[in-house]
Amino acid sequence: KATAQALALGMLCLSQTAFAQNAQDAQIEKLISQMTLQEKVGQMAQITLDVIGKGKDRYSSFEPLALDTAELNKAILKYHVGSVLNTANNRARTPQVWHELINQMQAVATKKARLKIPIIYGIDAIHGTTYTAGATFFPQQIGQAATFNRNLVREGAEIAAYETRASGIRWNFSPVLDLGADPRFSRQWEGYGEDPYLGTALGLEAVKGYQGQLGQNGEIDAKHVAACLKHFLAYSAPASGKDRTPAYMSEQMLREYHLPAFKAAIEAGAATIMINSGLINNIPTHANYQILTKLLKEELNFKGLVVSDWGDIENLYRRDHIAANDKEAIMLAVNAGIDMSMIAYQYEVFCDNLVALVKEGKVKQERIDDAVRRVLRTKQQLGLFKNAVEKQKDYPKFADKTFQQAAYNTAAESITLLKNQNGVLPLAKNKKVFVTGPNANSMRTLNGGWSYSWQGEKVEDFAGQYNTILEAIQNEVGKANVQYAAGVSYKMTGSYYEEFADKLEEAVAQAAQSDVIVVCVGENSYTEKPGDLNDLYLSDLQTTLVQRLAATGKPVVVVLNEGRPRVISRFEQSVPAIVQAYLPGNFGGDAIADILFGDVNPSGKLPYNYPRYPNSVSTYYHKPSEEQKKAEGMYNYEADYNPQYEFGTGLSYTTFKYSNLQLSKNKLKVGESLSVSVDVTNTGTREGKETVLLYLSDKVASITPDVKRLKGFDKISLKPNETRKLTFTLSPAEMAFIGLDLKPTVEAGDFEVQVADQKAVFVCE
Ligand code: BGC
Repeated sequence: KATAQALALGMLCLSQTAFAQNAQDAQIEKLISQMTLQEKVGQMAQITLDVIGKGKDRYSSFEPLALDTAELNKAILKYHVGSVLNTANNRARTPQVWHELINQMQAVATKKARLKIPIIYGIDAIHGTTYTAGATFFPQQIGQAATFNRNLVREGAEIAAYETRASGIRWNFSPVLDLGADPRFSRQWEGYGEDPYLGTALGLEAVKGYQGQLGQNGEIDAKHVAACLKHFLAYSAPASGKDRTPAYMSEQMLREYHLPAFKAAIEAGAATIMINSGLINNIPTHANYQILTKLLKEELNFKGLVVSDWGDIENLYRRDHIAANDKEAIMLAVNAGIDMSMIAYQYEVFCDNLVALVKEGKVKQERIDDAVRRVLRTKQQLGLFKNAVEKQKDYPKFADKTFQQAAYNTAAESITLLKNQNGVLPLAKNKKVFVTGPNANSMRTLNGGWSYSWQGEKVEDFAGQYNTILEAIQNEVGKANVQYAAGVSYKMTGSYYEEFADKLEEAVAQAAQSDVIVVCVGENSYTEKPGDLNDLYLSDLQTTLVQRLAATGKPVVVVLNEGRPRVISRFEQSVPAIVQAYLPGNFGGDAIADILFGDVNPSGKLPYNYPRYPNSVSTYYHKPSEEQKKAEGMYNYEADYNPQYEFGTGLSYTTFKYSNLQLSKNKLKVGESLSVSVDVTNTGTREGKETVLLYLSDKVASITPDVKRLKGFDKISLKPNETRKLTFTLSPAEMAFIGLDLKPTVEAGDFEVQVADQKAVFVCE
């Protein structure tokens, strides 16, 4: 009887769900049936705020950006535009100003337009709500990856979602799931580093944090936003290392390394996805039917919205030369599977041509309906049909102290101690410290790109509210104990920067008078093309500065504040301590100082290999043939696998010992799982956090296996003398690789498990 009741109840729930789902679908289908072709095509268009902004006001920081009524009406009433995004000249606005702006657009869309379809506003809130004045800024994704802490990544995304909603915005172009396997790429810092397993795990947390617990029919509640996975697929892998240049890659590699993070995030319900702006194997991704429709929409069953990247439909014509005009470009992109065109200033061209293409039968009506269905469904998921206008007062926790604490905690857990000879660190608080370097007194460098503005150049407007590294060190030891001179400075030239010596000789002379030198080097903020590099070495000027400081004989602590690992082998040997800070955000200065002076025990680990030479770049999961080995009868190639610091490097002020690695079995059948346990002991004298990394090596496989791959990680905190046993499960999915048939394959044979210095083998039969 109980079973029958349970069954009946189950069926009732099921039918209620199905009913709600049907009612939701019915609302969308009804709308679609009422829409004219022009109205449908308009929903597929996204314009920038600039297009509807008015005169000079659009460039001011805090004034409400007045909308141009004529332009607004033209876009929304005449062209039925469905979406707006941030402008290239974006500025930080207060939450109130954001609300006013967006509400003005919604008023036209939901009151004056025939079908009253709300617009969806999208923004790049990629490390916090980075276009809202006063919002909480987290470390950029590369720093978040270095925490190896799933909870912190989830919490950061939750907070960013809340503050984005507090700014009236419901769609976030984040997270970046591009694999950061090439340190030359100007956007490496926007992702979670070089490892597919880590990137998949943290990407999932970001999506869950942004979107929250989805409702029964995929609804996103009022505290969350729609995530946008970027940039499908292999955007980060151009052969030249330069942004938006071609990538060449086998499908096996695409699936082995680049796809997993996207696949997992899609399975977790990610609402939207943005497309790779470049070419893969000579095909612009925006026109790649195999990738957008066959792989993404059919094989991965992605039901959400596919948005183009900035102007990338136009690029098929103007840049990539696979279309002879705009019209052909639009045809190729829409037929390939693009649902919404981020079209910057060209929306009339997009809309008029797409209408004509449908009338001429070159784009099918069903393709348009599919795209519109996805756009409207996303709006429905976000509750826009029910309630397009929200009130700022419903978000009282904006910039809450607890949010700022979370951002600080994330920065503190990201900072990675790479070298610490003779216990130079932590520094004593009663010494004379000389602080120098172009990154020592800059908030801009701590934040990186996409911070108040695209290239991060507006960060200094808010600088007084947070501490630079210099200011945080002054707070630690008192101003009287700190001397400062930049030595080298950044100067903006156009959208990028140059470096120049800033009384370098005087700086070195002053340094010689101190007890210890903290030199903060790295990069100024950048993203995309302006951040392209011709040389991965840290700049000559900064290298000279560090070399000259080292020659004073005083202990030198190098703080790296950079988006990608700039090569430091020209001075690495001559300094005793090196700290990688990445782009730690507004609380990064405080976190760095707390680590330098020992208030916080460092626990970050490198989420990539730090290269030793600019032309000697490889990931930790390289091939055996890249090993620097002198095999019988072979040359010893010096520049083979030999990173400056390997993935996972990260020292602590305490020590950890690993022991007792055990496998639940040493023999298993293909398709079975096993568990792995290991004991970790804090053998030092202070409490510390440790990230435990589990690697697996497939000894022989039909495709040359990587020497090892991360297949498990956990971060724990241990008191002195405390031991913790950790248990990981290795499932068949973790033993698999993408085989010659392009499917996940587990092959019989030997495997080796490695956790720190502990190793064990098992056989799969
Ligand atoms: C970037 C995207 C970003 C978009 C909107 C593009 O240039 O490649 O990552 O989301 O602009 O700002």
